[in-house]
Amino acid sequence: LDVVDTFWPRANKYLMHTGVTPSPVIITKALGTRLYDASGRQILDFTSGQMSSLLGHSHPEIVRVVNQQVARLDHLLSSMITEPVIELAERLAQVLPSSLEKSFFLNTGSESTEAAIKIAKYYTGKFEIVAFSASYHGLTSGSGSATYSAGRRNGGPAMPGQLAFPAPYAYRSPFKKADGSYDWETELEFGWSMIDRQSVGSLAAFIMEPILSTGGILVPPKGYLTRMAQECKKRGMLLIMDEAQTGVGRTGQMFAFENEEGVVPDVLALSKTLGCGLPLASVTTTSEIERGCTEAGFLWLTTHLNDPLTAAVGAKVLEIVKRDDYCRKAAERGGQLRAGLLKLQEKYWCIGDVRGRGLLQGIELIANADTKSPGTELGQAVSEAAMRNGLSCNIVNLPGMGGVFRLAPPVTVTADEIDEALGILDHSFDEVLA
Ligand code: PMP
Repeated sequence: LDVVDTFWPRANKYLMHTGVTPSPVIITKALGTRLYDASGRQILDFTSGQMSSLLGHSHPEIVRVVNQQVARLDHLLSSMITEPVIELAERLAQVLPSSLEKSFFLNTGSESTEAAIKIAKYYTGKFEIVAFSASYHGLTSGSGSATYSAGRRNGGPAMPGQLAFPAPYAYRSPFKKADGSYDWETELEFGWSMIDRQSVGSLAAFIMEPILSTGGILVPPKGYLTRMAQECKKRGMLLIMDEAQTGVGRTGQMFAFENEEGVVPDVLALSKTLGCGLPLASVTTTSEIERGCTEAGFLWLTTHLNDPLTAAVGAKVLEIVKRDDYCRKAAERGGQLRAGLLKLQEKYWCIGDVRGRGLLQGIELIANADTKSPGTELGQAVSEAAMRNGLSCNIVNLPGMGGVFRLAPPVTVTADEIDEALGILDHSFDEVLA
């Protein structure tokens, strides 16, 4: 292929470096769960692109809806409402608790959390925002201020009033007891006591992922979300759920917050999975919060607000996930993936922890079986070996954490593809540890 000779020279000459290390592979095609490189080699995509391609790449119905919509009605003045946008909002309301009925649509996860934070500020009239110490909510100024897992990369001060809360990291928490149990309730109380001491009396919202993904696949223990919702209520704060990665079925439920009965966020932000690889994000809230924001002068008017093209895609994604029962399938395939990872843990001493839910699974590597010190370099080596062997999975590392692999294939993944990926992982561990 001619393109290969000139690919990197042109990329290096014209593409600005944004702090992301480019992957050495050159992908020329993506279909279903598989990527194809320039030489035709197949790679299993266990990251769903950037955690977005929920139904796999180029799902035929998504391709069709994009083609039809772009040919009929692509983009309008932001103030012009269109049918696909109403349909998407309606479909969202149908799968959400009844209080969550008012939505609008944007492009990216950063935008959706930025908007959710703004809503909390307008509605409460307060400005302090609390987020987990392992959070990822985006990298724009507001969303980036609530992001701790990528480091504090604001190029200056974060937004005033940004406060960090200890993330529920059961594997290495100082609140993990000698018998292996995790005293999360004391940790949570400690976290709130620190927030209450630091707050200047202007707590507006807690923003959280119901399972922290980029922060290391941290799954809060059962009961945690309920307590969090209660603590927010007690303080008059809004609870913002950011389900960029967990939403729309990936964890085996339509939304991961549903894992605890009765937990209903005040604001829900969706992005990645909703657009299935296309730039779509949503913010959904209650009629009361909508009213309060409007009275306070809330404004969100961006070029691609409520675009019909991506809205049509989102509506189709919701239709397919429900129609084809992908929540159940994600739970089943996720169970298969998890069982396979647990088997690998028995085989390889360096797998310290396996955690996740549904098709969002992670394994944390350790460098020493006794001290359980983080196996960061080992993680890098195994993930590079996996890529060479035909499996794309990515590493999400925080300081002090081992190499954490994230495995999050599309919900359309087959049982054979899961077995194939597990085989590649097994082989890659073998290679690296040999
Ligand atoms: N929230 C979460 C939970 C995310 O994982 C991400 C992206 N990794 C974002 C927000 C930001 O989304 P985007 O990159 O589309 O701005």
